[in-house]
Amino acid sequence: MIAPWDYPDFDDHEGVHLFHDRNSGLTAVIALHSTHLGPGAGGTRFWHYANPSDAITDALRLSRGMSFKNAMAGLPMGGGKGVILADAARTKTPEMLAAFGRAIDSLGGRYVTAEDVGMTDADMVAIAATTRHVSGLPVAVGSAGGDPGPTTAQGVYLGVRAAIARALGRSDPSGVHVAIQGVGSVGGGLARLLARDGAKLTLADADPARAQSLAREIGGTAVPASDIMTVEADVLSPCALGAILDEGSIAALRVAVVAGGANNQLATPADAERIHRRGILFAPDYVINAGGIINVALEYLGQGDRAEVEARVAQIPERLEAIWAESEASGLPAASVADRMAMRLIGRA
Ligand code: NAD
Repeated sequence: MIAPWDYPDFDDHEGVHLFHDRNSGLTAVIALHSTHLGPGAGGTRFWHYANPSDAITDALRLSRGMSFKNAMAGLPMGGGKGVILADAARTKTPEMLAAFGRAIDSLGGRYVTAEDVGMTDADMVAIAATTRHVSGLPVAVGSAGGDPGPTTAQGVYLGVRAAIARALGRSDPSGVHVAIQGVGSVGGGLARLLARDGAKLTLADADPARAQSLAREIGGTAVPASDIMTVEADVLSPCALGAILDEGSIAALRVAVVAGGANNQLATPADAERIHRRGILFAPDYVINAGGIINVALEYLGQGDRAEVEARVAQIPERLEAIWAESEASGLPAASVADRMAMRLIGRA
């Protein structure tokens, strides 16, 4: 196994911490990309990897993404990410979560966790028994925090509206055709908000029944998951998986805008240029999907209530506008402009 600093995605991480707890069987990675702006904040993923180096790569990529996301959201937080290496059956035990809490605690507050793929609200509560460096815990009505999904959906919705205004010159999404890939917590929330505005919706999900029942409920058309990337529409909103924009899929897009909540939508850095060259307006994912982290960061910091969260989420369109304006002025892809802005903010310009 190569050392973490030899990984292609190492990118000057401040620390890559490997944990093993013999009694519970926990094996985990906590990657800390940058604590320049504050404690490294980012969720924990519970996932089965074919080999441990894939888990380290995932942690490195995700933690760098969190540095950029938190910086661009204006939060006093750095970037970090936890990955728990699950067995093939994805066995998760209370002992494992307690051990993971102790692992987080051993970093003395340099890493703050939250929910990510494979983790639940209840898991956050379990981890909180052994460390206080957890966000996304149940909160009182009107407070910041709790399930980040609806707040992420709200930010994506505002970002989609901003993209529609810029690319189509439309201040109102009524009649605008939006194709949504993945109608879970974020994509489903986005669909409901856009339906209220009278947008025309095409929905797809890996679970077809999910897309069909939402389409019936709010109005819209459900299509097979394999078709959504090539639907002719105004906007494609990826709200399921990462790495869906590659050379082939970008060439086949039939939309004016790509703006959605999924993390790491571009498969490679070269895809930023590809989408730009096609003249498609792209909303950098970590900027448009920052609503959830804003919600849980304010909860952790004990700063502000629900109204403060909403005020900060309402700034997402301005950030996108600034990126698009600089992209237009410089001729650089929006994704590259966002990366440069984020690098400046974390002191790595
Ligand atoms: P979710 O699990 O609630 O929903 C994802 C949906 O996508 C599911 O319904 C799933 O069936 C569907 N899906 C999976 N593969 C698909 C495919 N190939 N085609 C179509 N549909 C597919 O997850 P979520 O919380 O809504 O998150 C969605 C995306 O947004 C993820 O990339 C996540 O990392 C990102 N994200 C989420 C948040 C948040 O607050 N929940 C914050 C930032 C980013």
